Amino acid sequence: MLSVTVCAKMNNVKWLISRLPRRCMTTVTGSSPQVQKPLNFVNGERSNPVDRSNTEALSLIAPATGEELRVVESSGKDEVDNAVQCAKLAFKSWSKLSGNERGSILKKAASIVRARSEELARTEVLDTGKPIWEARWDILGCADTIDYYGGLAATISGDYLQLSNGSFSYTVREPLGVVGGIGAWNYPFQMASWKSSPALACGNTIVFKPSPLTPLTAVMLGEIYSEAGLPNGAYNVIQGDIDTGRYLNVHPDIAKMSFTGSVAVGSKIMETCAKDIKHVTLELGGKSPCIIFEDADLDNAVSGAMLANFLTQGQGADILCGGKQVTPQDKKLAGGIYISPCILVNCEDDMRVVREEIFGSVMCVLGFETEDEVLRRANDTEFGLAGGVFTKDLQRAHRVASSLEAGSLYVNNYNVYPVGVPFGGYKKSGIGRENGPDAIEYYTQIKSVYVEMGDIDAPF
Ligand code: NAD
Repeated sequence: MLSVTVCAKMNNVKWLISRLPRRCMTTVTGSSPQVQKPLNFVNGERSNPVDRSNTEALSLIAPATGEELRVVESSGKDEVDNAVQCAKLAFKSWSKLSGNERGSILKKAASIVRARSEELARTEVLDTGKPIWEARWDILGCADTIDYYGGLAATISGDYLQLSNGSFSYTVREPLGVVGGIGAWNYPFQMASWKSSPALACGNTIVFKPSPLTPLTAVMLGEIYSEAGLPNGAYNVIQGDIDTGRYLNVHPDIAKMSFTGSVAVGSKIMETCAKDIKHVTLELGGKSPCIIFEDADLDNAVSGAMLANFLTQGQGADILCGGKQVTPQDKKLAGGIYISPCILVNCEDDMRVVREEIFGSVMCVLGFETEDEVLRRANDTEFGLAGGVFTKDLQRAHRVASSLEAGSLYVNNYNVYPVGVPFGGYKKSGIGRENGPDAIEYYTQIKSVYVEMGDIDAPF
């Protein structure tokens, strides 16, 4: 999620700069035994695509070093179909287990993720180039999410309604079937976990396609689920890019798509789902305001602005600092892709850099005079993923949080995802929610059963 930072006093910008360098450039290099293994995970085991006709080969590059790690074969139509059929078969038995049985498998998987967290984090760094501290944070958060849905699984239930003369009605919360998941590149393990764990808790099975830029850890999750006792075929991974994603999206046996990525692709996914009346959850792009009032605790506000702008990120205005290609001194990193975090000042509201998602480590700083003014300007966007407010004024904090048109609001913090708190966007930033109890709504459907206890009281 990219944000614009708006400060009540422009001289706060120097605080931002003084705090910048500490967290951004700690990566790890080296290889991983995971890299050369087969990268599809279908019916409980790793595999390479069998049918290699009509599929492209994708080069996997480590962003930290620029090294080509391997070539990944895309999955074609038949590969996608095979994975969906395996998931369809597994659905028959998985959906019939009790929530408690499903939950204990997820809880076991969470404990394996914790035990393997360092290996997972290092593989994630190899794939994404993100700092190791951030990858460790992501992986342990995913373990919490899987654990959370493991706990919630046993509580998924319907309702009972008493009707007249002893008749009654009850509702059953049933799974949807086979879920198709497609992820973006910036949180690979998180996307695989955030989509699969609620889907599985509800009794669905899933076929997940990671971004072609970051294929490694979603497959490791498959092995972890298997070790925890998940039946073969309940969680599958297929690798590929646009064509593979399209095959999954249009497959007639896919009941729901859960997509994370750009607005442009999300719109295509939804269009395809609309034709077949499929359920859809979209987690899309953003351009989120982080509003710093002059009474804010500046240390916190600076940390928040950094979290808002420089976490996992891939003109016009004046460049105050950064935005330059950086060559690290460590020779192992010489071929890597590095750019210094960039702060832009003297920005105007109508500049492209302020209005559009950049998805790079760029912070646009704008000034404002009054609360009404900043709210009007902050809401003047087609996005609505998130927003933040830094202030010590309690009433103002709640007023601003209530007035900003976005799905996630942070007061005196930013970009934190505690397990149990729903996440998702307003406006073009998405539809549906991930995380928290709300996600259950998006992976289930309600069946109403009417039970007549007497004779039919026919009105004819
Ligand atoms: P992208 O939209 O280019 O690609 C996302 C995925 O869609 C990839 O796996 C890609 O292979 C697949 N894809 C592309 N075209 C497709 C098609 N026609 N049919 C089916 N699948 C297709 O996004 P990206 O560059 O990987 O990621 C960046 C975007 O993701 C940004 O806009 C960012 O804001 C967004 N994002 C949103 C969230 C969120 O939670 N809201 C989280 C992370 C990233």
